[in-house]
Amino acid sequence: MIYKRSSQLFAEAEKVIPGGVNSPVRAFKAVGGTPIFVKSAKGAYLYDEDGNRLIDYINSWGPMVLGHAYEPVVEAVIEKAKLGTSFGMPTELETQIAALAVAMVPNIDKIRFVNSGTEACMSAVRLARGFTKRDKIIKFAGCYHGHSDSFLIQAGSGAMTFGSPNSPGVTAGTAKDTLLATYNDLQNVKTVIGANPNEIAAIIVEPVAGNMGCIPPVAGFLEGLRDLCTANGILLIFDEVMTGFRLAKGGVQELFNITADIVCFGKVIGGGLPVGAFAAREEIMNYLAPLGPVYQAGTLSGNPLAMAAGLAMLESLNNDPAIFQRLAEKTAYLHEGIEKVLKANNVIFTINRIGSMISVHFDESPVVDLKSAGKGDNETFKKFFHGLVKEGVYIAPSAYETWFITDALTYEDLDFTIQAIDKVSKTF
Ligand SMILES: *Cc1c(COP(=O)(O)O)cnc(C)c1O
Repeated sequence: MIYKRSSQLFAEAEKVIPGGVNSPVRAFKAVGGTPIFVKSAKGAYLYDEDGNRLIDYINSWGPMVLGHAYEPVVEAVIEKAKLGTSFGMPTELETQIAALAVAMVPNIDKIRFVNSGTEACMSAVRLARGFTKRDKIIKFAGCYHGHSDSFLIQAGSGAMTFGSPNSPGVTAGTAKDTLLATYNDLQNVKTVIGANPNEIAAIIVEPVAGNMGCIPPVAGFLEGLRDLCTANGILLIFDEVMTGFRLAKGGVQELFNITADIVCFGKVIGGGLPVGAFAAREEIMNYLAPLGPVYQAGTLSGNPLAMAAGLAMLESLNNDPAIFQRLAEKTAYLHEGIEKVLKANNVIFTINRIGSMISVHFDESPVVDLKSAGKGDNETFKKFFHGLVKEGVYIAPSAYETWFITDALTYEDLDFTIQAIDKVSKTF
């Protein structure tokens, strides 16, 4: 493979964009080398500026659950664009996607659309604080909820890849209201709640963690959080920006049959356009302006192109009930294949998987929280990453990331990937 044009484009980008990228996870800081510039993508494949084809396991970090340039989404965006791209006035489309989301997801009556997952989580926390009249929140080390100040405390993959779990620029005043707990450790959560009686507005959690590799909740963890929240007047916020409309039609709430008080969405809900959303039962959502006192707004929120893409995406998922099972089967097939070849090549590893999310960790101990996720051997990961790129397989350039399986992947693509992993792991 050649990366001549990508390297040139990156050099030019570096002159005018900090680090050459508009989101740090796109840089190759953790693995070395220079980022690959994409020219186009279709289905399961990326085509870069040098004409290389790569099987894509990032899928825009989650949104492309049906593959790239998915026809109904592309068509919907083109048709809407001809009618005007933004009005700052209500459109019927916003009600259509809201009604569909509310029908697909359990325990929500109303939903508000924003422009990113960050905005969704930030707004959800403000709403929870306004509703409970309390200031503090609990977040889990290694969970990522976007780059809003309150969340940049041990924030998982992106922040961890760059060795700065806590970002400068977040004031001590803000940081003191974010309490940290250990993922999958209920006792720890109890202790944090006990030390801050009647002060905690919300617990925000990735109900399946996806930003320190893929870490499913251990048995009883989510149930325990639900009970602790109910007993202590705390709102439970499920950050389903990654898992929503990916692990099940109704997300993790449906998958594990747990009721969250507020749910955040992003990624899939926008079909690849910039969309986030947060939702809750009526009593909570009515606290938002203009009905209630908690302010939240957006010039481009509910943008017609974004809503058209999101609606086409949700309709496709809603009309295809078998999709989530199909995705899970493909992911299980990939899991088995990778396991087989890594074992055969005497590689030390752990694989985590749930639904269409999977991560490969180069360490043998179970990966259940941030600490255990950090044990993976990064030197092996670097060889793995660059080796796979050479073979035409693209995974995220960081050992802390989840791979996303799309419906566009065929079993031939999966076999190709497994063979590539076999070949690369022989060189470790
Ligand atoms: C990606 C992600 C976010 C942030 O969403 P952006 O659209 O990047 O702002 C928040 N929470 C989770 C769980 C995510 O995976």
